[in-house]
Amino acid sequence: MTTSPRRVTRLVHGQPTSDGAGVKLNRVIGTQGFTMLDPFLMLDEFRSDQAGDYIAGFPSHPHRGFETVTYMLAGRMRHADNQGNRGLLTAGSVQWMTAGRGIVHSEMPEQEDGLMWGFQLWVNLPAHEKMRAPRYQDIAPEAVPEVAAAAGATVRVIAGTFGGVEGPVQGITTAPLYLDLHLDGGAALDVPLPAAHSAFAYVYAGDATIGSERVQRGQLAVLGEGGGVQIAADAPARMILVAARPLHEPVAKYGPFVMNTQDEIMQAVRDYRDGRF
Ligand code: FE
Repeated sequence: MTTSPRRVTRLVHGQPTSDGAGVKLNRVIGTQGFTMLDPFLMLDEFRSDQAGDYIAGFPSHPHRGFETVTYMLAGRMRHADNQGNRGLLTAGSVQWMTAGRGIVHSEMPEQEDGLMWGFQLWVNLPAHEKMRAPRYQDIAPEAVPEVAAAAGATVRVIAGTFGGVEGPVQGITTAPLYLDLHLDGGAALDVPLPAAHSAFAYVYAGDATIGSERVQRGQLAVLGEGGGVQIAADAPARMILVAARPLHEPVAKYGPFVMNTQDEIMQAVRDYRDGRF
């Protein structure tokens, strides 16, 4: 089978919002205008050097039925949960948390000034894994391999495989690819993508040409059907490129609970209220 390069089918701007105890962020997936890109339920970019925008953090809160993926570009975030897990997320690190049947955790800045910058992505779990045991994969910055992809193009491989190099995140059913692309001016590369995967690129510095589309900083490009994607930059640019297998299952979502039915949501609310997480 031959597959043609993917084209950009939609360009999405994020919406400024706040979450947690008042952290300002830019929500790109999970808004009224762009509710999800199966299996991706939410993408937030947080970026501020004003402590007041992030210092309140995300105090204790629950999750059930999906995965939260935090990728830090700058700053330090401390996480702690109700099962005794503790960790510090620093620039370049990743936390892939499979909430499964439920965790209660906090995500709090461990700095009082300076830049805090990163992403949180929510990835849905298939029905048969929504009540599985929770799992963390905490990945240190130096554990994320960097591939020299083409002249002036470096790719950090967080999950999945690029250029024969496998990322450190393992054992995720939706078989995700999560890449961080750093392009110098004039760089161009092709990124192969599994044909059946949903895929997007989010440009977080500079601007780039994706397929034949110009994509600015702060824009998410939804990639249509096909094989890989062609990416180029005239000036230095950075983006995350993320793909995963869609689930094609019903989604019942209520705040931090993402299940398949409304009954399962009500059960999650009761379980949390009764301290069964
Ligand atoms: Fe959380």
